[in-house]
Amino acid sequence: MATFGATIPQNQTYDVVIVGGAIMGSSSAWFLTDNPDFNGRILVIEKDPSYQMCSTAHTNSCMRQQFSNVLNVRISQFAADFVKNLRDYMGGDPRVPELGIQNYGYLYLADNDAFAETLRANQKVQLAAGAETRLLTPEQILAEYPFYAVDDIRLGSINTKDEGYWDGGTVFDWWRRSARARGVEYVANEVVAMTRNATGTRVESVTLATGEVISCGTVINASGPRAARTAQMAGIDLPVEPRKRYTWIFTAEKPLSRDLPLTIDPSGVHMRQDGPTTYLVGGRGDPDPAVEFDDFRMDHSLWEDHIWPIIAARIPQFEAIKLVTEWAGHYAYNTLDQNAVLGPHSQVENFLFLNGFSGHGLQQSPAMGRGISELVTYGGFRTLDLTPFGYDRIDRNEPLVEKAVI
Ligand SMILES: Cc1cc2nc3c(=O)[nH]c(=O)nc-3n(C[C@H](O)[C@H](O)[C@H](O)COP(=O)(O)OP(=O)(O)OC[C@H]3O[C@@H](n4cnc5c(N)ncnc54)[C@H](O)[C@@H]3O)c2cc1C
Repeated sequence: MATFGATIPQNQTYDVVIVGGAIMGSSSAWFLTDNPDFNGRILVIEKDPSYQMCSTAHTNSCMRQQFSNVLNVRISQFAADFVKNLRDYMGGDPRVPELGIQNYGYLYLADNDAFAETLRANQKVQLAAGAETRLLTPEQILAEYPFYAVDDIRLGSINTKDEGYWDGGTVFDWWRRSARARGVEYVANEVVAMTRNATGTRVESVTLATGEVISCGTVINASGPRAARTAQMAGIDLPVEPRKRYTWIFTAEKPLSRDLPLTIDPSGVHMRQDGPTTYLVGGRGDPDPAVEFDDFRMDHSLWEDHIWPIIAARIPQFEAIKLVTEWAGHYAYNTLDQNAVLGPHSQVENFLFLNGFSGHGLQQSPAMGRGISELVTYGGFRTLDLTPFGYDRIDRNEPLVEKAVI
């Protein structure tokens, strides 16, 4: 078995070449090896094997069932099943830890009638799909969570089943470890170019930074915020760009009386329980432009002038807090509709997208990896029909509507 320390692939030809070996690339590789009908050779090319810069390393690692689009609910239902039964999915390997979900739920807060109406409509979709979303009046919110200030709130929406924190890092580790044990080759290298056939309908090979030219049956674009750059190598436009998202971790002088749900304030700032006595808050700047791939600078005035005042207004106990740590990460932001782009390109038929997950890709990684393995193996979906995420909608400029985007 090749070690990840290797930079040069052992072969010149692979059935599947995956560009990017973080959570999406590794999920796809693992699901392919887990599919009894797939027998091909898989190469994963990862430019940064330390994974320091990828979205996966900067995530807040939560899942929710509260989406407005039923397909996104189904995707998260599979995520919950996969996480809770990780060991079984990994063939019962006793080294695989048993994982759970820290179900404090997401609490959406509406401060106007239009958004309250959206929450009501979303709840109908979610209940029909089997989620347990509850709508709460401000009084009901206070009865359950006395620490909030709710004077401006019209309605809340919460679900505490399969919704909250999960250990994405462990799932990622096991996908990578198990895929490699099953023969997937990971190399530390960068894809810098692609060659198409004479008619332009297929990618024939990818070129590595070290000069090797590797032939591929299928190429999967799992390159996160760099997805558009990778697509461009095959002559394809993709509306995905890096957008900065900030995370702060803090302790409160007086901790809250119970776990803090992942609270989506009407301002867009969100916060949640982190450790037993720590809290996490996430936010973004306004405006929110595309940034350079290597721009991870913090913006301290954002915390001081914008984020802290908002959380302290929503939870007065958060007037007295102490920052513990902070980081900036990148969403792979799909500017059309902030949703996944999955499956083949309309003309370059062996170029598969696995891109544009914006703020909900971690929880989508089980369903997306499984879906990609079905596409590669059968040419179509066998479990969950993920066709609505196809690239065609980009061509048609038709957004896939998801109203619950964070
Ligand atoms: C602050 C923040 C909070 C988030 N919170 C959540 C959350 O709570 N729940 C949730 O579900 N999702 C969340 N997300 C989103 C989620 O983390 C991402 O959608 C997911 O990690 C994307 O994984 P990926 O493998 O597609 O991309 P990445 O993790 O970015 O991986 C892409 C990889 O491709 C490699 N690569 C790129 N170009 C090349 C090339 N040319 N050659 C070789 N390798 C290349 C990169 O080095 C990188 O390792 C959050 C994201 C951020 C930034």
